[in-house]
Amino acid sequence: MNMIPTFDLCSFILLSFFLAATYFRRMTRGKINQYYIILLIICLLTCSFDILAIFLDARHDPAFAALQFTAHSVYLFLHNITLPLYFLYIIAQTDTFHRFGRVSAEIWFLLVPAVGYGAVMALNAFNGMVFTLDNGIYVRGWFMNVLYIISALWSLLCIIYLIIYHRLFTPAVLVGLLSTFPLMAVAVVVQMLDHNIRIEMFAITVGMLFIATFIQRPEAVIDFNTGINKFNAYAVDMKRGFHNKKKFDVILINIANFLSIQEILNYESANQLLRMIADTISKITKRSKAAVELYYLDKGRFRVFVDNRSRDRSDYLAESINAALKPKLPLNGMEIDLVAYVCIVKCPEEIHDFDTLIEFGKDLSKFRFSGKVLYAAQMLDHSKYDLMSSLDKIINEAILNNRFEVYYQPIYSVSEKCYRSAEALVRLYDEHYGFISPAIFIPATERTGTIITIGRFVFEEVCKFIASEEFKNSGLDYIEVNLSLMQCMQGGLAGDLLSIMKKYGVRPEQINLEITESADSETQSIIAENITELLKAGITFSLDDFGTGYSNMQRMASMPLKIVKLDKTFVNMNDNPKLLIVVQNTVKMLKAMNMEIVVEGVETAELVERFTLLNCEYIQGFYYSRPLPKDDFVDFLRKNNTLSPVTVE
Ligand code: C2E
Ligand code: MG
Ligand code: MG
Repeated sequence: MNMIPTFDLCSFILLSFFLAATYFRRMTRGKINQYYIILLIICLLTCSFDILAIFLDARHDPAFAALQFTAHSVYLFLHNITLPLYFLYIIAQTDTFHRFGRVSAEIWFLLVPAVGYGAVMALNAFNGMVFTLDNGIYVRGWFMNVLYIISALWSLLCIIYLIIYHRLFTPAVLVGLLSTFPLMAVAVVVQMLDHNIRIEMFAITVGMLFIATFIQRPEAVIDFNTGINKFNAYAVDMKRGFHNKKKFDVILINIANFLSIQEILNYESANQLLRMIADTISKITKRSKAAVELYYLDKGRFRVFVDNRSRDRSDYLAESINAALKPKLPLNGMEIDLVAYVCIVKCPEEIHDFDTLIEFGKDLSKFRFSGKVLYAAQMLDHSKYDLMSSLDKIINEAILNNRFEVYYQPIYSVSEKCYRSAEALVRLYDEHYGFISPAIFIPATERTGTIITIGRFVFEEVCKFIASEEFKNSGLDYIEVNLSLMQCMQGGLAGDLLSIMKKYGVRPEQINLEITESADSETQSIIAENITELLKAGITFSLDDFGTGYSNMQRMASMPLKIVKLDKTFVNMNDNPKLLIVVQNTVKMLKAMNMEIVVEGVETAELVERFTLLNCEYIQGFYYSRPLPKDDFVDFLRKNNTLSPVTVE
């Protein structure tokens, strides 16, 4: 059997299939898709001419000599411009057309090569430098090797470009984009050794298969309900924009009351509402003819990316979207009133990195709702967002250079009239920003997972302190250590903490772990496993920040707690008589449940008196002392921790 055209036939079928799939999956919009489609068409044509050439080669019929020559020439022409075209596809993938200018890129990387290859093939008709037909038999010329060298250079250019921009891609996408080259190299060698094995097109087709599988996947980028791009695509595009130092605007559209609306609507109606909003935005952007891209992130949050070319239309777009979302939307006999925050962000002038853009857009409802378009420039607290954008870097450097420190805040025992415990609080000092509050950096460490390292460091410092002579003479019974939710969810946390305690000879009653309630009960059950193991070892727990956040009584009652810490916002009731009743009765209820109470954030003598009268066991707050570095804390206890009543200096 003549197996030579079999490869080409297979390629033809596969390529036709990819082309049809691209069409039916509606992946036709945008530069990336357009170059992909052109690539598929060129490959299909190349295959067709190769099949024709092979067919005519086999016939050896002089009557078809001209057609045979043309088929080979067109095949070689198309085959050679595939790589320049692929380079344009890579430029589109990296979104770096602005580096060259789109037209210049197309001139230099498509038109010039096309003219060049065209001229070579035309010249070949006269001098046979690429190939000749000797009585219908295909014979390669000397220039064929030059063409191979030029192709190798194109491949090198593509690979170098991908290496330079590798950070823009996930490993799977990078593999997809690079896979063509080793495949082609193997095919070229095979085809050079035996010209009858026409495998080059098949290698390219397999490369396209990788691209179709890893890259051209609508499900990865399109939200099927609204039909617009989803969060993944937003993340990739924005990161790429910042990385490539592009100038663009983003219009943020947050439907602040979407979650409440979603609760009253059924699933289908909520989806329908989202589709209506997406259509409204889409119509406005289409009408404006601006160069934009739309995204639906989640929870009623839409984004419009406005390219540099159309930045002058951002204001108009934002105003139009804002106006269109104001009237009540009719939906299945109901009238839906949206609270839409529309805000323009100029990148990179106002926000210059992806994390800050996400953080800023998360919750616009913290800004007063005026119904007018908002401008990020007027809303950004730059020092805060600058800090947020460099926070991960600061944290990582602080871990590497051991710059975290543990401070201690004494906790006063009302009945014993002295300090019997203290809370360990982590501190981070940065040369540029000064002390960074844990309320800011702890959430960041939870996001990146560095809380595990920091938590272990804090715990080890505390154990070292407990094992020291200073602690033995301090009059303290135990230290309270904060555990974040993320730490509690780590399998092996219990074993880890217990082994650190063992290393320093710390007894379980010398440690109390502070935990907070979590929003969902799933998380609560994972946490329960760690807690059970630590409880079995004899360690006790406090519930931190009670009176804020979720404070689900039922869940609190079922948690194995020794202490409940009343949060400072709950404690500072500002003489609101109703809140006072809430606090009094909460204290009563907790005592009836046999829980000990630590009142946090007490700053005044008046509050000390109030909670002393309520029989709360412990008081913690600036009234007694701020959190102190270990040595100062030891000094403080030496001076103040007598069994006689504590006097505040
Ligand atoms: P928290 O556990 O509720 O800690 C009490 C916070 O209240 C501390 O803030 C403390 O400095 C502050 N505070 C104490 N007394 C007063 C007062 O009288 N008035 C006022 N206004 N504030 C008072 P800090 O140190 O900024 O810590 C903030 C939060 O960061 C902590 O809240 C805790 O949730 C977290 N955190 C601190 N250290 C650690 C740690 O080592 N690990 C973990 N996972 N979280 C930590
Ligand atoms: Mg705490
Ligand atoms: Mg607290």
